[in-house]
Amino acid sequence: MSTPATPQHGFSTRALHAGQEPDPATGAVVTPIYQTSTYKQDGVGGLRTGLGTGYEYSRSGNPTRTALEIQLASLEQGHQAFAFASGLAAEDAILRALLKPGDHVVVPNDAYGGTYRLVKRVAEPWGVEHTPADLTSLDAVRAAIRSGTTRLVWVETPTNPLLSIGDIAALAELAHEVGALLVVDNTFATPYLQTPLTLGADLVVHSTTKYCGGHSDVVGGAVVVRAGDDGRGEDLAERIGFHQNAMGAVPGAFDSWLVQRGLKTLGVRMDRHCENAERIVEFLLGHPRVASVLYPGLPEHTNHAVAARQMSRFGGMISFRTRGVEDALQVCKSTELFTLAESLGGVESLIEHPGRMTHASVAGSLLEVPDDLVRLSVGIEDVADLIADLDSALA
Ligand SMILES: *Cc1c(COP(=O)(O)O)cnc(C)c1O
Repeated sequence: MSTPATPQHGFSTRALHAGQEPDPATGAVVTPIYQTSTYKQDGVGGLRTGLGTGYEYSRSGNPTRTALEIQLASLEQGHQAFAFASGLAAEDAILRALLKPGDHVVVPNDAYGGTYRLVKRVAEPWGVEHTPADLTSLDAVRAAIRSGTTRLVWVETPTNPLLSIGDIAALAELAHEVGALLVVDNTFATPYLQTPLTLGADLVVHSTTKYCGGHSDVVGGAVVVRAGDDGRGEDLAERIGFHQNAMGAVPGAFDSWLVQRGLKTLGVRMDRHCENAERIVEFLLGHPRVASVLYPGLPEHTNHAVAARQMSRFGGMISFRTRGVEDALQVCKSTELFTLAESLGGVESLIEHPGRMTHASVAGSLLEVPDDLVRLSVGIEDVADLIADLDSALA
């Protein structure tokens, strides 16, 4: 599909224009929700052209979804993007498209709980092995790699909920040395703050449910494959694209449209998320009931220098440790503006207790998180109100 946005345009220009040209049939400025499963053929096998290539059936392709995929590929500076029904469906497509029984994956030792469950409870019984590793240490990753069978190194940065930082460029180099691919879950940073494909990653995966959608009103996912003229991006695109259609975990037109609308304001939202988070970090650091604050923007953060190199700012997620599990639970149930809920990345602020909520499924495993930990997804409300809310919850 032709698109008025070029790779030379700025981020928000691409967010608004890549894949978003007026509808060729009506001139509608906003991509219509093509709520159709099938398409009239002009003669047997005569697919219409126009908006991209011919459409025949909406599992294989739908113009609303195509518009989202072009927008996402442009924002991540990748070769091609594929939209899925959820972040986990996108992850599953990567695992099944690129692995076979006997292969091995290195995963973060504080991976998103659902990612770990997918690798442990779905991929492992199917014959794909994994080793959790501390991705902040290149030595730990090197030690986890099994030469000859490690096909993927899976990275989250910042991680959830400990907000640790992996060095994408160094990890890509390490993975490539052993013939493995580097996958980066870019859900927390978003392409506004960090573009892993430009740092050497082969694939980016998203839960578009979070910042990309941004309004807590849609569940979705995406895979974006790297650009470059060595043909590897094309090869990955073919394999992911084949599985997207063959397994069929695709988003509907309305969900595709919602994520597209969210992406248009990603830049302005992220600026505000970051700004509010920075102010809240400052507040928490000065509070006697807070034992420590985990935020990659802090100079004392273990991998702050790496974060500063690969991210333009440090995001809207903050975790902090209290002085015991009771305090953590008390704060979580005492806020009024921060809503007690799982998920993250929406315009409204959320608070949660990872140990008993998002990460309950990894209790007792290597991925268990401290029980005095509280996670904030800082929204775009007025920051003074957010600070007052936390202040009274901590009192
Ligand atoms: C939410 C999330 C996922 C899973 O995405 P769903 O859309 O819930 O399936 C994967 N990775 C990270 C970092 C997430 O936050």
